Amino acid sequence: MASKDYYDILGVSRTASEGEIKKAYRALALKYHPDKNSGDAAAEERFKEAAEAYNVLRDPEKRQTYDTHGAEGLSGFGGPGGFQNVDDIFKMFGDIFGGGGGGSVFGDIFGGQSVRNRGENLRAHIEISFEEAAEGVHKTLSIRRASRCSRCSGRGGKDGSEPVSCDTCRGAGQVLQSQGFFSLRTACPTCRGDGVVISDPCPSCNGEGRVTGKEEVDVEIPAGIDDGTRLRVTGHGNDGVRGGPPGDIHIGIGLRPHQFFRRIDDDIICEIPISYSQAALGAQIEVPTLGGRAEVKIPAGTQSGEVLRLKGQGFPNVHRRNRGDELVRIQVDVPRKLGEEQEEILRRLAKIEEREVSSSRRSFLDRLKDYFG
Ligand SMILES: [Zn+2]
Ligand SMILES: [Zn+2]
Repeated sequence: MASKDYYDILGVSRTASEGEIKKAYRALALKYHPDKNSGDAAAEERFKEAAEAYNVLRDPEKRQTYDTHGAEGLSGFGGPGGFQNVDDIFKMFGDIFGGGGGGSVFGDIFGGQSVRNRGENLRAHIEISFEEAAEGVHKTLSIRRASRCSRCSGRGGKDGSEPVSCDTCRGAGQVLQSQGFFSLRTACPTCRGDGVVISDPCPSCNGEGRVTGKEEVDVEIPAGIDDGTRLRVTGHGNDGVRGGPPGDIHIGIGLRPHQFFRRIDDDIICEIPISYSQAALGAQIEVPTLGGRAEVKIPAGTQSGEVLRLKGQGFPNVHRRNRGDELVRIQVDVPRKLGEEQEEILRRLAKIEEREVSSSRRSFLDRLKDYFG
């Protein structure tokens, strides 16, 4: 096992004081903090390495052993104490610096930056058409959001100056206030709970580490999405204060009403008016579909309210592979106004219907006779 040089890792001299070691570790821990380098394995390794080095050098006894015998000499202390995961580091130094329990356990080292500074979630609304919902669509959302300040790289300090520990709360982010018998922990009024203050703020962002402006965000809307669905675009909300992780955008999807279609789950319903003669004699008609139009055969003798099903002409299902259907509901239109010829024909029809009884009608009358005996 190659022996690591803990002084090199922290970037301090062999004669560095306890204070210098702590300061060096704090700077490295902030720099390689997992919240700021999410997914960066190299940064995580540096973060762990620095914690290991600090864990040895902060302890005078361990440090002396290390100085004399190197890392191998630390076996008497249960090894140099490498950290397998980042949580262990938080736990360990939380115990050491947290003191009061709860509250800002990392105040001393991390300035309470971990979750506190996460950027706000943003809300937006997008209206799409039935056709867009059926196909899936790419939209560009124009939104006001806070993004990392490029001038200070989100650090908040002018010309690369670092945040310093807050004097009022000594970096804890909280102060103890006494009121009669009670003492109360409240957020520090100087640093507003951050534990650090920017002594020389970046002029572009006033030390916040982010600036607000209009931005365009690409949104992929999946095929089959329904009215009222919420989409989350992860990590595109506001960037956090001074390098904190970004929030999300929550997008409400609205489906604009369609002139022909209504939607029920994955099916669409379409009312189609036909004439009495088309219903009686049968017909070939054209109906609108989500993709354009389709020919539909109306069988002779179709009744008003009957539903014809066009398989697979509905919405695709967002979760499954199959599609809904288009339901064509037939509406037999009774004309409000008749032309002369139409009226004449209908009057003749009425006469025929009175004189002659159709075969199906006769059998009904026969059955009625049987019933009454
Ligand atoms: Zn700035
Ligand atoms: Zn403070």
